[in-house]
Amino acid sequence: MRLRNIKGAKEAIAASPYVVHNPEEYKGRWCDFFGNDHPIHIEVGMGKGKFITTLAALHPEINYIGIEKYESVMIRAVAKREAAEDLPNLIFLRYSAENLQDVFAEGEVARIYLNFSDPWPKDRHARRRLTSSEFLARYRSFLSSTGRLEFKTDNRPLFDFSLEEIRSSGWELRDVTYDLHHSEYMTGNVMTEYEERFSAIGNPIHRLVAFPPQN
Ligand code: SAM
Repeated sequence: MRLRNIKGAKEAIAASPYVVHNPEEYKGRWCDFFGNDHPIHIEVGMGKGKFITTLAALHPEINYIGIEKYESVMIRAVAKREAAEDLPNLIFLRYSAENLQDVFAEGEVARIYLNFSDPWPKDRHARRRLTSSEFLARYRSFLSSTGRLEFKTDNRPLFDFSLEEIRSSGWELRDVTYDLHHSEYMTGNVMTEYEERFSAIGNPIHRLVAFPPQN
């Protein structure tokens, strides 16, 4: 994603009631934060937030946490959240995926969404990909044993790499498709900003669901 400095983004995020600035304090206590014991679903690298804001409106019975590393992008998600109807089940973290074990306790998250994650095409950067075995090990530390990870991308090399990393890390793959928009899994699909952009120019969207090892 091309990053521009957006004037005032840092200040607006710092002042936003929809951004949790001290998320480590809620590790193991997110139920208390939301005031209910609904399942927690997170999107890592949410970008401008269309996907997770749409899901939060559709599913008030789920608590959603959108995570994004860059303020210049996240400010768009905060604006959407402000424009939306009341969504007590949606909050944002400006946080790096690398450190999410500091934010979530074992088994605390029921679902992880990764959408159009940065591909990091050079081999020497493979460990930075959010579906690398290093990241899968991090996710496993807080994903519930009955939880799942869902990943969408139009980038075939990244998708193939992800299938391999997921298999070799002992996760179970299900519902794999190389063309989501023309598949049986399209029902209920919520499009992300990148998905809209790339499907509009004819790129097939790849999608997988993965379940963590049970031992
Ligand atoms: N998910 C959105 C979509 O599908 O429209 C955005 C996709 S964009 C290509 C990837 C996003 O992931 C960017 O906004 C980027 O800043 C964010 N990101 C990349 N690495 C990250 C990390 N380690 N932790 C948190 N966010 C990250």
